[in-house]
Amino acid sequence: MSSAFIAALIYLTAVPTAEQVRVGLFGLFKPEALDIRIKSGAGARLDAGDLSNDHFIAPGDLIRVQATGNRLSILVTDSYGRTRKSALAREARVSLIDSGTFELSLPGKIKRITRGRITLSAEKRGPRGALRIILATDRESAVASVVAAEIGGSREPEAIKALAVIARTFMRRETNRHRDEGFDFCDTTHCQVYRGEDDLSVETGLPVIASAVRATEGQTLGFEGKEIEVHFTASCGGLSATPEMVWGGASDDGYPQRRIACRWCAGTRFWKWQRSAEAAKVMDALSSAARFRLSQATEILIEKDGADGFVRSVTASDRGRRFRMSADEFRRHIGRRLGWNTVLSPTFQIELRGHSYIFRGRGFGSQVGLCLAGAVRQAAAGRTYLEILDFYYPQTEIKEQGSRGAGVRGCEGSGFTASMAPLRGAPTLPCSSAPLHRIRRFIAERLY
Ligand SMILES: [Zn+2]
Ligand SMILES: [Zn+2]
Repeated sequence: MSSAFIAALIYLTAVPTAEQVRVGLFGLFKPEALDIRIKSGAGARLDAGDLSNDHFIAPGDLIRVQATGNRLSILVTDSYGRTRKSALAREARVSLIDSGTFELSLPGKIKRITRGRITLSAEKRGPRGALRIILATDRESAVASVVAAEIGGSREPEAIKALAVIARTFMRRETNRHRDEGFDFCDTTHCQVYRGEDDLSVETGLPVIASAVRATEGQTLGFEGKEIEVHFTASCGGLSATPEMVWGGASDDGYPQRRIACRWCAGTRFWKWQRSAEAAKVMDALSSAARFRLSQATEILIEKDGADGFVRSVTASDRGRRFRMSADEFRRHIGRRLGWNTVLSPTFQIELRGHSYIFRGRGFGSQVGLCLAGAVRQAAAGRTYLEILDFYYPQTEIKEQGSRGAGVRGCEGSGFTASMAPLRGAPTLPCSSAPLHRIRRFIAERLY
């Protein structure tokens, strides 16, 4: 491990704000068993059942947790395979005693490196039960992991910064999605993809993501004093959609969400796409969603939004029976059964050709909010993350929490400030609220 990577990891664990987020891990797998090992650091503490609060887990030990009904069966073995402890418990907590990392693995399925505290419980499901695995970790570390998972191969610092602000805003605002399950976010695209330290491990030589996330530490996106509803999409396909168009309902933040014409993603991988799927499989997927059998005579009708092709609704019509859904619901029904790489966005056309449906569309993902493909292109063209955020979210402001103070220049006073980190010599902005378009103009005036 290089010293630069170690330095980045140490920094990420030493964030002074220490705001925690709780991430529900591996929910898609409905896991029955989990193995926990110390990957790095001095060890951990296990608190479970009749074990003392301070049962020490040494590097080399293995904690195997299994769901048995709604209880946990816990076995700790040492590096020679000898049993050190066993217990039955309703809940178990494993906390690292320093800035180390865990290796979590679902035997035979998946491994993940994480940092923070893990809380385990079991719920009765099927003959044995399923584990609920919740990781409490510091927010900035989670932001870096989400950004690393979502940014793909791009290493454009300004695009990474823009995404970091969006991911952090999402984390601070959308904390109700999984409240009933006892955590803030799941680790899938339902919330934001989270793969722990795995995606950051490519940063061994050059910690671009860690330093870009650090440069925006504590910054979120707001409008008139409130954090706004934010989203990002792999590609908007040339014209973004609003949250209301895709998911219905209206946000309570007062921000006028609007469609953004984006020329930046033109010609990138998912700008335009075509996929095909067996008609019988499409009917199977829709039948299970509709809860009645759709025959091969079913017609699929789509209602579009003007000329740009955004799909408002999809109706499967079969001999007088109809099943109507939004484009997003249609994508999810198809995605669950045929894979998420079938209908890539809510802007598509559908055509029956022989025994297959051909889907043609543009954009990848919800098409809402920041377009990642476009942001990467903008960054490559020399635009700053403030300009990128202003492009996809006009009239918004940057809000700072838990600022480190020194080194970050912005508005005087508390509340909304604008990071002027790229312009260390710039004077403090004389404002209490700094809309991005004003900051951009200010930067332009200072430079030219
Ligand atoms: Zn979720
Ligand atoms: Zn775009």
